[in-house]
Parts: sequence; C-alpha cells; structure tokens
Amino acid sequence: MSDCVFCKIIKGEIPSSKVYENEKVVVFRDINPAAPIHVLVVPKVHIESLEALNQDNIGVVTDIHAAILETTRILGINEEGYRVIVNCGKNGGQTVPHLHYHILGGARFDEKII
Ligand code: 5GP
Ligand code: ZN
Repeated sequence: MSDCVFCKIIKGEIPSSKVYENEKVVVFRDINPAAPIHVLVVPKVHIESLEALNQDNIGVVTDIHAAILETTRILGINEEGYRVIVNCGKNGGQTVPHLHYHILGGARFDEKII
C-alpha cells in the first residue's frame, strides 16, 4: 500500500536498520525500542493484521516464523531466549496496519501479562 510506513521501508523509500531479509520477509530494528534488542519481522506483502490472514496468504506465517529463527541466531539471542508479540487491531494496541511480529530480547522480562 502506497501510504503504509512498512511498505515504504520494504521499498527502501524510508531508511531502516535491517538485520535480515529474504524474498518474503524483512526484519529491521524498531525505531522506538522497548528492550535492548527490539526488531520487527515484517512480510513483504501488505497484510493489515493477523485478522486479515486467509487461506490464500496464510503461508506467510511459516515465512515469518522461519525468519524469526534466522534472526534470533543472527542477533545471538536464540539460547538465552526472547519474547515474540503480535498486536492485533485497536484493543491489541496495533499502531501500524501492516502485519508484524515484535521480537524482544537482551533482557529478562519478569512482568507477565499471561
Ligand atoms: P505496533 O504498535 O503496531 O504493534 O508496532 C508498531 C511498531 O513500529 C512500534 O513499535 C513503532 O515503534 C514501530 N515503528 C513505527 N514507525 C516506524 C518506522 O518508521 N521505522 C521503524 N524502524 N519502526 C517504526
Ligand atoms: Zn504495508
């Protein structure tokens, strides 16, 4: 989508600090990190949210999870662990309407919502 900030990052129209990229997914550092390591795993196809997944595009979830595994190894947080968060819609606190998974690492998260 032309006015989507993550589509602009994917197209290179807005700079980002990329840590991993393949044909289907890009991973870059969050501009406002909530942890020592905070990156966003973003499919290159514009999908608004988890709720916009369907039979035709659900394969991207496999691509995202494979990219998470590549990324946690690249960042060296695979052994100590990390947290993955997906915000969905208004009540989920989603602010950018392009599906993305947050990876948070480099610290121990003692506060638990669940
Ligand atoms: P959400 O709140 O939708 O789950 O997450 C959106 C995330 O995108 C936020 O953590 C925010 O800091 C990040 N973000 C928003 N705009 C930009 C940007 O232009 N560049 C980068 N690297 N991150 C962004
Ligand atoms: Zn987009």
